[in-house]
Amino acid sequence: ERIISGELQDEEISEELTLRPQLLKQYIGQHKAKENLSIFIEAAKMRNEALDHVLLYGPPGLGKTTMAQIIANEMGVQFKQTSGPAIERSGDLAAILSSLEIGDVLFIDEIHRLPRAVEEILYPAMEDFCLDIVIGQGPSARSVQLDLPPFTLVGATTRAGLLSAPLRDRFGVLSRLEFYEVVDLCAIVERTADIFQVEIDKSAALEVARRSRGGTPRIANRLLKRVRDISQVKGESTISIETTQKALEMLQVDQAGLDHIDHKLLLAMMDGFRGGPVGLDTIAASIGEESQTIEDVYEPYLLQQGFIQRTPRGRLVTPKAYAHFDREVPQT
Ligand code: ADP
Repeated sequence: ERIISGELQDEEISEELTLRPQLLKQYIGQHKAKENLSIFIEAAKMRNEALDHVLLYGPPGLGKTTMAQIIANEMGVQFKQTSGPAIERSGDLAAILSSLEIGDVLFIDEIHRLPRAVEEILYPAMEDFCLDIVIGQGPSARSVQLDLPPFTLVGATTRAGLLSAPLRDRFGVLSRLEFYEVVDLCAIVERTADIFQVEIDKSAALEVARRSRGGTPRIANRLLKRVRDISQVKGESTISIETTQKALEMLQVDQAGLDHIDHKLLLAMMDGFRGGPVGLDTIAASIGEESQTIEDVYEPYLLQQGFIQRTPRGRLVTPKAYAHFDREVPQT
C-alpha cells in the first residue's frame, strides 16, 4: 500500500483510538476551522440547543473524523458514525436516524457517496427533524411522518463541490480543513512520539513533518512509526535525524514528500505530453488511475506545492517540477 496515502489503512484502526485528540484545545493546527467551530459550539451550548449541521471538507487524513468526534465531546453528546457507501437503502438511514438522542452527533464520512434516494431522506431530517417514511407498497402504500430529536449532522467529504446543491445548502457551517503548516505538523509528530513513548530529536521530528505530503497528520504518524522501527533496531535511545533521513529514503519518500506515484504522474506528463496542458482523463488513462483519485488524492498536494498547475486547457507541469527532476523545461 502507498505509504503516503492519506487514507486509513486496516492495521491502523486500533491505533486511532490512542492517537486521536479528544478536545478542541488538543487539536493542533487548523486555526481558522477551530476558531469558528469553538464559537458555534459555545453559542449552541449557551442556548442549550443542538449545534447546527457541519460539513467538513478537505483531502483524506487531515483530521475530519477527529474533528467530528471532538465536536461531540465538546457538546457532551453521543457520537455515531457511518459512511456514504455503507448506507445502501433508505431504511438503513431511517434506522440510524431514529436511534439518535437529543443533541447527538451523527457523522457521515464520504457523504457525497450517499445514494440519491437515501440523500432525500436527509433533507427533512436535517431541516425539520422529521422522517418521512413510506409504509407498504403499491396502491395501499402510505406515508407517515416521525419526529426526530434535534441532532447535529457532521458530514465529511474531500471536496464540497462533490455534494448536490440541496444537500450542501442544508449545512449551517461549512468548514474547510487545510494542509498543515510544518510547525503544526511537527507538534503532531512530537505528540505522537510521546504517546508511543519514544524520544525524537527536534530536527528528526521536523524532517518527518516536512516530508508528510504537505502536512497530512495521518501520513506523519505513519512515517513516524516506520522511522521508530528502524531507529529501535539500530538501538538508538532517541530517534536521530540521520536515521530519519535513511528511513525515509528506504520508504521512497523524497525530499519534497513525493513518492513513486507522484513521480509516475509527473514523469508521464513530462515524457508523454511535453509537460501539458493535458486533460485529467488523459493523464488518468496514461498511468492507469481513476480521474477522481488523481483529482482528490494526488493532485491537491502537487498543486499546493506548485509542481503542477490547473489551466482551462488542462494540467501543466511547472518549472519547479522540472527542476525537482533535474530536467530542462522543454522549449515551446
Ligand atoms: P480524516 O477523517 O480527515 O481522514 P482523521 O480525523 O481520521 O482524518 O485523522 C487522521 C489521523 O491524524 C488520526 O490518527 C488523528 O489522530 C490524526 N490527527 C488528525 N488531525 C490532528 C490534529 N489536528 N492534531 C493531532 N492529531 C491529528
